[in-house]
Amino acid sequence: MREAGHPHVSPRLYPLFAFLCVTTLILVFSLLGIFTRPPDLLAAFWPANAVLLGIMLRYPRLASPAGWIGGIAGYLLAALFTDDSAIKTTLLTLGNLAGVGVGYLLFRRLDHEDVRLRRPTSIVYLLLITMAASLAAGLVGALVNPLLFKGDMLYGLGFWFASELVNYMAILPVILTLPPLAVLAQWRIDFYRPSISWANMLPLLSFLATLLLALLIEGPGSIVFPVPALLWCAVTYSLFTTSLLSLCFSSLTLLALSYGYLTINHDAQTQYWMFSVRIGLMLIALTPLTAASIMAARNALLSRMEHLAHHDHLTGTLNRTGFWPVAQAMLATHEQRQHPIAVCMLDLDNFKRINDTHGHEAGDTLLRACTEAVRQHLRQGDLFARLGGEEFAVLLPAATQSQALEVVERLRERVAGLSVMDETGRPVGATISIGMACQQRGTYNLDRLLSRADQALYQAKRNGRNRVELHEDCGQERVAHPLGA
Ligand code: GH3
Ligand code: MG
Ligand code: MG
Repeated sequence: MREAGHPHVSPRLYPLFAFLCVTTLILVFSLLGIFTRPPDLLAAFWPANAVLLGIMLRYPRLASPAGWIGGIAGYLLAALFTDDSAIKTTLLTLGNLAGVGVGYLLFRRLDHEDVRLRRPTSIVYLLLITMAASLAAGLVGALVNPLLFKGDMLYGLGFWFASELVNYMAILPVILTLPPLAVLAQWRIDFYRPSISWANMLPLLSFLATLLLALLIEGPGSIVFPVPALLWCAVTYSLFTTSLLSLCFSSLTLLALSYGYLTINHDAQTQYWMFSVRIGLMLIALTPLTAASIMAARNALLSRMEHLAHHDHLTGTLNRTGFWPVAQAMLATHEQRQHPIAVCMLDLDNFKRINDTHGHEAGDTLLRACTEAVRQHLRQGDLFARLGGEEFAVLLPAATQSQALEVVERLRERVAGLSVMDETGRPVGATISIGMACQQRGTYNLDRLLSRADQALYQAKRNGRNRVELHEDCGQERVAHPLGA
């Protein structure tokens, strides 16, 4: 499956691309961990593992042997910037890979929607899987700690487990919900649009305000001050934005705690205390994420229902309900721009007889074939809908009367040339009659235009079918158009 927005690389070069991409990312994020870790200690902030797991899941094409080798190369290259011994580097890399490997194998068992965190239960899976992955890393830590740091096994297990869990929970949601590149490009365009909707910015502004408020008021409760604002963000923005804001919330709060800008307890801040706060913060950040997943599932359901309500299930075109508002908006736009407009009604000829002769199923196949032929023939800005039974409407904006006539005449010919098979293998074909109403400028009224097109259609039927008729009120260009056969 090709991910939307995934850079297009030829299949021959893809392994090299995957290798270089993963190596670079893991090198950069390992270096980030190495340069922020205290001397002679393990890094508590180690984003590389979550990044490796995240990109392998978000971009499954990277999860090839070349990609995984790239990941290992990234860890090893980063170790060159430390004075770690070969054995230490090997053991630490094994620990990293143990967690990522377990996480990857477990996530692969989930379906795509859950991996992208788009279901209400996805966050529960995320928590359980990252706990298992962190435990795998923790077990390596239990062996490594006495060997490398002369510490005890239990501390090694606890430290690795807790820090891995925190890193995964903070970073994975952002990567797993990353929108396709095309969407990111659209965001850039939207960002520079002069009219930013302030109402839409309110949740974000309140999030920033509550972060400041937490710094001002301090005390243990201040940590959760931004949670309601984060929930507001979760029900307003996308899953990705919410993941990003949750990451900001937990990392900014941790930074403020570490550097003493936020004091929640005046007792000594032990390492144990710090871990308790870290894990607590990550768990708080799960609340907005869960809300955002529920919203994502709800929005997907709503748009599916809206699609079903506005589209015809047989042909996939707009139905009458869907057609009306789009057509009204289109007329308003072209009225304002003083563009001419043509409205056509199409009706299959003697369709009842076709059904009676060849069966309803052959009739359905023919309806679908006709729809496809018309759809392929129209321009992008034209509007096409099935108004009922075997009756369709076409709106041709910004087309003069003669251009519109040319278009519908070709539509008529296309449909007349179609043939499908019925159940017994006999060919079935159909013809259409078309009535057209047009207007050069002035006030466009959809009801009136459709009714005129309908009158012209009636005329086409009366004049022998398989022909196009123009309504008599079509303006100066009016001509008798016995275009049909
Ligand atoms: P005319 O040339 O005057 O339009 O004749 P007609 O037989 O096409 O007109 P009429 O309106 O009497 O019949 C329309 C027929 O279209 C009736 C119905 O059986 C058929 N029809 C409507 N919807 C569908 C559909 O979804 N599938 C199939 N197979 N037939 C349909
Ligand atoms: Mg008909
Ligand atoms: Mg009809």
